Amino acid sequence: MAGNLLAAPRVGVLALQGDFREHLGVLNSLGAEAVPVRRPNEIADLDGLVIPGGESSVMDKLSRAFGIAEPLRAAIAAGLPVYGTCAGLIMLADTVLDAIDSQRTLGGLAISVRRNAFGNQLDSFETELAIPELGVVPVHAVFIRAPVVESVGDSVAVLARLDDGRVVAVESRNLLGTAFHPEVTGDARFHEYFLKKVHDERARSRG
Ligand code: GLN
Repeated sequence: MAGNLLAAPRVGVLALQGDFREHLGVLNSLGAEAVPVRRPNEIADLDGLVIPGGESSVMDKLSRAFGIAEPLRAAIAAGLPVYGTCAGLIMLADTVLDAIDSQRTLGGLAISVRRNAFGNQLDSFETELAIPELGVVPVHAVFIRAPVVESVGDSVAVLARLDDGRVVAVESRNLLGTAFHPEVTGDARFHEYFLKKVHDERARSRG
């Protein structure tokens, strides 16, 4: 991992597919050095990584074809802070329900997620979520063919639920995941929360 603690954190955004540009924009606006990541040799000097929304089965195939899936697994296991949104959350899940045949994930988050959990009638919707960790103002959450978290392991904290109790944001040590897309709303609090994790990990690993 690169740089000193005063330098801007170098945060990659997995740019194989999906809405990686929006994440690069938000991270840059918060003062991070945000870089697109496609190749295995682009991982080593990262302080953190965002996995964007898109289509998890395609992202899975491309990540294996580009030879970056195994290095990412190793980096996650070694403690690299990673934030996954929507398809990115699916990529971080240990278990996926309603996956396509042969679909794999990077894993690391002890959760099971169900893909496309809201069915055809409610493909996409927006709602307000109370998330005390991010302050008193609710988070306006945009769901697009979103997954839900169906079960969480002991190591996983729930950050947000829908009104019906279904889990849509989780955190576990170095990993953060949301079923929705903060990168499209102009509310940067989730990215700020993630950058705090990146900062804490840099401080810890150099302490
Ligand atoms: N439905 C997509 C999947 O299964 C996720 C959609 C999204 O990232 N907005 O990967």
